[in-house]
Amino acid sequence: MRISPVVRITLSLVLLTICILLTGDMLGLTPGRDQAVLDARKKFCETLAVQFALSAEKSDVKTIRTTLDVIVDRNADVLSAALRTADGRLLAEAGEHQALWEEGAQERSTPTHAKVPIFRGDDRWGTVEVRFTPVAAAGLEGLWQSPLLRLLGFTALAGFATFLLFMRRTLRHLDPSAVIPGRVKAALDVLAEGVVLLDENERIVLANDTICDKLGQKPEALIGRMLSEMGWQEPHYGGEPRVYPWLRAMSHGEAVTGTALALPTPEGAITFMVNGAPILDGEGHLRGAIATFDDVTELEVTNQQLRVTVTDLKESRDEVAKQADQLQFLASRDPLTGLLNRRSFFDSAVKAFETASQEGKDLSCIMADIDFFKKINDTYGHSVGDETIQMFSRVIQSTLRDTDLICRYGGEEFVVLLNGIDIQTAAEAAERVRHAVEHCEGLTAPMTGSFGVASLALEPSDLADLIEQADRALYASKENGRNRVTRFDETPEYGDL
Ligand code: GH3
Ligand code: MG
Ligand code: MG
Repeated sequence: MRISPVVRITLSLVLLTICILLTGDMLGLTPGRDQAVLDARKKFCETLAVQFALSAEKSDVKTIRTTLDVIVDRNADVLSAALRTADGRLLAEAGEHQALWEEGAQERSTPTHAKVPIFRGDDRWGTVEVRFTPVAAAGLEGLWQSPLLRLLGFTALAGFATFLLFMRRTLRHLDPSAVIPGRVKAALDVLAEGVVLLDENERIVLANDTICDKLGQKPEALIGRMLSEMGWQEPHYGGEPRVYPWLRAMSHGEAVTGTALALPTPEGAITFMVNGAPILDGEGHLRGAIATFDDVTELEVTNQQLRVTVTDLKESRDEVAKQADQLQFLASRDPLTGLLNRRSFFDSAVKAFETASQEGKDLSCIMADIDFFKKINDTYGHSVGDETIQMFSRVIQSTLRDTDLICRYGGEEFVVLLNGIDIQTAAEAAERVRHAVEHCEGLTAPMTGSFGVASLALEPSDLADLIEQADRALYASKENGRNRVTRFDETPEYGDL
């Protein structure tokens, strides 16, 4: 159970008052009832003794007896009374004195057993004995009769009631929300947006019903609290928000709009779109701020789902594009060597040939073929043959430039188009490949290759003609003993042209 601040303050005041009373009592400032009773009893007994002394002088025992009866009858706190002679005889008694006196009697007078000597002349003639009720009752009754406790009890009850009334009345004057007219508050309460008014110390002076509902708090529980101390969090990332719009509005003196803030609740976080604006008085002095809260939790959930969908779509689009690239790559490549296949080689080579022809630039072609490959296949088997083809293609690739178009033209035949390269440079490149092939290490079957080189400078009619010329040069290499490079312009055929 939550105890309201007003009740807590009232209780504190009551406790303080009780402490003050107890301190006063300890300092002896409160009159002691017990002492007053004792003093009265003492005086009463002394008066009695004087009266009985007079009767004793006259040996008027009858008057003494009557007086004793009257005393016991009229005084509620006198249980019994008696006159005892000096030799211990009871001369007169009232009430059950014999029995009552013996219970707790002592040598000296006590608060319940009073003894007053009576003198006849100088001799002690007898003693008046008066048995009183105890000054304070025993146990709980005694406690209840204790004037201090009664005072404290009364102070506690009456103090609580009056302090509470006083505090309520006082706080009504001090209540900051009381300055807001009821109709203004009623108007704000019907808004679907949460509205909070703050004083210049960022303390809440008004919170409309909407924000109270959202925060799960009663308006009086929010009044006086700091708005930034509600446990706000940065949406999405968590942690303390970087910006509180109302604070920024107060420090910058201008409205701050569209800041998202999240508030964790047991049912899940609520996301608000928050605006803050400063409140200035007529002279432009800052008097506080107004903050509005738009619950965008549902929107936020939908946005989040959309974000996930968009990410999924992007991922699948990327995946499709990747697969298309892979397909494109696979479609343009020879599966055994990864070199260009004939179709894609011709796609690029035709364009390169046309561009070079039009622009008068160099373009060369190398035709290559593995020597006695049939023999490798026959001697070591087909898989060693495949291995040899792969190794040959790797050597060509690593020796030539990335920009050269290298194609597996047939079984163990390769064609290369070297853009911007003249026949001499192309022949040198072919020679480097030939040398590397011949000295290739780690092969089951040793291999060599034969090469033919042609160039645009030898004026082929078209791309097919250029390749044909290179092929003829290759043929010449084979004819001349293989493992060599031949330029088309070195063949007898070229001379015949
Ligand atoms: P030459 O020096 O005159 O070129 O002799 P060769 O044996 O290399 O010439 P030929 O063209 O007669 O032999 C080529 C052989 O290559 C024929 C075929 O069985 C084999 N071949 C073609 N494609 C492949 C392939 O993909 N893998 C393997 N292992 N062998 C292949
Ligand atoms: Mg061959
Ligand atoms: Mg061949």
